[in-house]
Amino acid sequence: MIAERADCIVVGAGPAGLTAALYMARYRRRVLVLHDVSARALRIPLTHNAPGFPGGISGPDLIARMTRHAESYGASVREACIVKAMHDGEIFRVQSQTGENWHARTLILATGLHLNQIPLEHGVHEAAIRSGVLRYCPICDAYEHTDRKIGVIGCDTQGGNEAMFLRRYTDDITLIPCSYADLSERERKSLTDAGIRIVRQAAAKCTASGDSLSVELANGERLIFDVVYPALGVRPRTELAEALGLATDDSGCLDPQTPFETQIPGLYSAGDIVEGLDQINVAISHGAIAATKAHNWLRELDGECLPTDAGH
Ligand SMILES: Cc1cc2nc3c(=O)[nH]c(=O)nc-3n(C[C@H](O)[C@H](O)[C@H](O)COP(=O)(O)OP(=O)(O)OC[C@H]3O[C@@H](n4cnc5c(N)ncnc54)[C@H](O)[C@@H]3O)c2cc1C
Repeated sequence: MIAERADCIVVGAGPAGLTAALYMARYRRRVLVLHDVSARALRIPLTHNAPGFPGGISGPDLIARMTRHAESYGASVREACIVKAMHDGEIFRVQSQTGENWHARTLILATGLHLNQIPLEHGVHEAAIRSGVLRYCPICDAYEHTDRKIGVIGCDTQGGNEAMFLRRYTDDITLIPCSYADLSERERKSLTDAGIRIVRQAAAKCTASGDSLSVELANGERLIFDVVYPALGVRPRTELAEALGLATDDSGCLDPQTPFETQIPGLYSAGDIVEGLDQINVAISHGAIAATKAHNWLRELDGECLPTDAGH
C-alpha cells in the first residue's frame, strides 16, 4: 500500500499541498496527500486572480482540477484528520484522529489557517460568502466591489489598513469597532482625511441577506452594506509543525524560509501557514519549492547527485 512506503507525505489538499503533490509525483516519487476537507480554497465562490482563468474559477472547481492533475501522475489523495506528527531522526510518522498511521522520509505541511470570523450561524455565514456580501480578503476581491458601500469590522490598525487599502476602490467605507476602537490619533486622522467614516458604537449583530449585510450597532442603529470585510485576524494551523519543533512568529505563522528548509531535514512547509501573502499563487509557488527541495534532499540521501567535491 502506497501509504506505508511513501517517499513524501503532504498534509493539506489546498493549492499548496496539491501543487507539492503534483511536483513530487512528476519527480516519480510515491506521494500521499492527507487532508480533512477544510481547505480555505474550497470556500472561494469565484476567484479572479488565478492566472489562466480570465473568467474566474471557483475554489471547488480549482481544487477538483488540481486534485485530478496530481492524481493523474500517481499522487494518492486521502481524507484523514491528522492529529499527530513525529520524527525519529529518519522517518516522519503521522497519525489520524481515527488511529491510522502513515510514514515517509519527507513531510510537507500545507495546513493553511483558520479565519477569525464574525458570529453568524455557519450556514448563514457560508451563504453570505457565496453571495458575495461577506468577504475576508481585500487583496483577493476588492476589485469586484468597486464603487460599492463597504463596511470594515475591526477598528484597530489592521482594520484601518484594510479600510485604507479598500479606499482605492470606493469612496463609501465605514469602519466599525468589533468591541472597541483601538486607533491612535494619527491613524484616526489619516482615515478621516481619506474620507473613511469611523463609527463609535461596536458591532452587536450582523444579519445577511442575499444582496446586503446589515450591522446592528450597540446603540441599536442599523447600517446596511453591499459588502462587509471583517478584519479580525487569522489563526495559522501550525499544531503539527509545532509538535515537530518548528517555531512560529508573533503572527503565529512559520518562517518564510520553511518552504526551502527547516531545522529538521526532510521537513518543509507551504502556503498560508508560512508568513507572507495568503494567496493561491503564493501557496502554489511554495508547494513547487517545497516539493523540489524534498525531492533533491532524497536524491542526496540516495546518492543520486554529483559529489560536491568532484574536483572541478
Ligand atoms: C472566501 C475566500 C475567498 C478567497 N479568495 C481568494 C482569491 O480570490 N484569490 C486568492 O489568491 N486567494 C483567495 N483566498 C485565499 C486562499 O483560499 C488561500 O490563500 C489558499 O487556499 C491557501 O492555500 P493553502 O493550500 O495554504 O491552504 P488551504 O487552501 O486552506 O488548504 C489547507 C489544507 O490543509 C488541510 N489540513 C489542515 N490541517 C489539517 C490536519 N490536521 N489534518 C488534515 N488536513 C489538514 C485542509 O483540509 C486543507 O486541505 C480566499 C479565501 C477565502 C476563505
